[in-house]
Amino acid sequence: MKMLVTGGSRGIGANIVVDGAKRGHDIVFTYVSDENAARDVIRLIDDIQAEGTVDYLRLDVRDSTAVAEVVEQATDLLGGIEVLVNNAGITRDGPAIAMTDEDWRDVIDTNLSGTFYLCRAVLPQMIDAGFGRIVNVSSLGHVGSSGQANYSASKAGMNGLTRTLAKEYGRKGITVNAVVPGFFETDMTRESLPQELRDFWGNYCPMPEGRPGRLSELSALVEYLISPEAAFINGQTIHATGGLDWGP
Ligand code: NAP
Repeated sequence: MKMLVTGGSRGIGANIVVDGAKRGHDIVFTYVSDENAARDVIRLIDDIQAEGTVDYLRLDVRDSTAVAEVVEQATDLLGGIEVLVNNAGITRDGPAIAMTDEDWRDVIDTNLSGTFYLCRAVLPQMIDAGFGRIVNVSSLGHVGSSGQANYSASKAGMNGLTRTLAKEYGRKGITVNAVVPGFFETDMTRESLPQELRDFWGNYCPMPEGRPGRLSELSALVEYLISPEAAFINGQTIHATGGLDWGP
């Protein structure tokens, strides 16, 4: 498949890119600030001699003009985009009454508006092709999460956007689904997850020793959702949380 993955330079996105290349997909991924991390992903893919081809482009998903340009470049590089994975995302946590306009806007613009801009830019060619797969990386924050008014609103919005696009474009051969990761070890959780929340996960996640998710478990879910077998799964929000589905 020909895939565009946003935020593929680190964490969950990088793993989706590496595992996707191993499975033979041709991929363009984006980074925004850390080109070295993007290069590392390419190096890793070269080292394992993955079957698929992989390129990267710089993109700030908050910029709708840049999104349109990068979608055009990725389309040229790949010869069309069949799969879009909206993975780029950030947190800027704090209690709602102390949240600055900037922290609110940064998170909504990146996680929600960015996802919308990408979908809007990619959908026309999927409609023309009569085929498309969109996977949005949401979060358990969508159920409501103390200290994450911005993040929770962005991910709940993403789920609504997912269902709406599924309804608008399902008849054109396009499925749109959201995946909800539980706790996965990445820069995002290392940098911003308070110890009490880590303890909460460890104590209550109904998995052996309350373990976190493995990145390969999430990339396998994405792989399933883009496979022919998943053609009838549309507009869904699928939790990969180990069974711990309500935040503190
Ligand atoms: P991460 O390690 O912090 O990686 C974030 C990625 O997003 C990076 O590739 C980063 O690019 C990119 N990015 C950030 N701001 C961007 C922008 N404005 N435009 C374009 N790209 C941007 O995070 P992660 O943990 O892998 O999270 C990936 C997704 O999973 C996010 O949507 C997050 O909300 C979701 N999620 C994660 C967890 C978890 O446990 N880790 C749980 C639930 C949901 P640079 O490297 O260039 O900065």
